[in-house]
Amino acid sequence: MSRLFGTNGVRGVVNRDMNVDLAVGLGKAIGTWLRGGRVAMGTDTRLSNHMLKSGVASGLMATGCDVVDLGEVPTPALQLYTRDRVDLGIGITASHNPPQFNGIKCVDGDGTELVRRKEEQIEEVYGSKGFELVGWKEVGRLYTDDCIAGYNSAVKSMVDRDIIHEASLKVVVDCANGVGTYSTPGILSDLGCHVITLNAQPDGTFPGHESEPTEDNLRDLISVVKDTGADLGIANDGDADRAIFVDDRGRFLHGDRTLTLVAKNEVERRGGGIVVTPVSSSSSVKDVVEEAGGKLVYTAVGSPIVAREMIRLDAIFGGEENGGLIFSEHQYCRDAGLTAARIVELVARKGPLSGLVDALPRYALDKRGLQCPHGMKERLMDGLKSYYAGEQSDDTDGLKLIYREGWVLIRPSGTEPKIRIYSEAKDTATAESLGTKHEKEVSDTLSLLVGSDRQKT
Ligand code: MG
Repeated sequence: MSRLFGTNGVRGVVNRDMNVDLAVGLGKAIGTWLRGGRVAMGTDTRLSNHMLKSGVASGLMATGCDVVDLGEVPTPALQLYTRDRVDLGIGITASHNPPQFNGIKCVDGDGTELVRRKEEQIEEVYGSKGFELVGWKEVGRLYTDDCIAGYNSAVKSMVDRDIIHEASLKVVVDCANGVGTYSTPGILSDLGCHVITLNAQPDGTFPGHESEPTEDNLRDLISVVKDTGADLGIANDGDADRAIFVDDRGRFLHGDRTLTLVAKNEVERRGGGIVVTPVSSSSSVKDVVEEAGGKLVYTAVGSPIVAREMIRLDAIFGGEENGGLIFSEHQYCRDAGLTAARIVELVARKGPLSGLVDALPRYALDKRGLQCPHGMKERLMDGLKSYYAGEQSDDTDGLKLIYREGWVLIRPSGTEPKIRIYSEAKDTATAESLGTKHEKEVSDTLSLLVGSDRQKT
């Protein structure tokens, strides 16, 4: 059976990859695998949501599952509801992808994203068409419910309302015409912030900008923060599990800055503890966590992996540099609502965001990629492991080489025919020279492999 689920569920272009037959089939496969029970379903704001949701729901009911339709919801709200109320959650969303895309993503009964092993079991049922349809009396029913109010009040209960209220902060929120519209602005205004919204009309054509919160897509947010003299700007991605920030000086903050800031704050606030992040994260996270008396643990890239490791180690906090932060006090998934509330609380308590961020250790990152066919990736990585055998390294995900002046992570892309090379150092020139040197070494190793293949044929 070929792989259906990628790193973020099943995803593709609507009516090409993501069609109604796939939706019904997957609904039947998930229901057969689950063997009955209650499944909550939520969507982002995409135009194809009704089609895909109805298809999946029909398949689920045919196999005896009851379906609770939550409508348009932020992904972390669906995850919280799933953890507390039902046996499984299904999100119809393509997160930050362009509007012609959509996806189907499963949330396990504990609110975390489904692990790969369980996805494989569902793929197995789907591939073999071993659907177990129930008799007419056992066919599932469709219910509706709301989970947004519950999520929003849960988030508000996690922070100090009085301190935020007293600070009376001005916050600009860019919802990207996505489901963040239902969570972030309301949470912050209830906490006493003066909120200005951008792109806060749910619209699956994404008329404001595409739903990935890149610096380029957030130009309006940056200018409104500057023009209104706001204390900060916040942007969500399309399904509102990630949050990216703009400081009071109108500077776009890369996700690693807020990851570092919040990691520091969580360890200080909790008086120590374990923080989990992928090997690709900036060393600034390790620096602040250790300085505050905490311990940093590295994992492979991917938020479900970070979340599972947090549960295993009883970690206090975890996250990735893309703005997906996980707070164990609340739930083991990326939680943009709580990320926004925490950072607002931090600014209310300790002063301007620009000052908080500038006080953090800073590193330069060089990112580059090299074409490499999917079929060659494993052999190339083996070749590189031999080539760099004498160096200090970490093979948690790809190959991370640790040098005195910084580190280099060489890692095959999960989706593209590429090898990615990330180099981090204290300054840009050193990061670039590490990048150039390793790009050449990776390229030479690849050429050797291709050359030896040619000789064999
Ligand atoms: Mg997302």
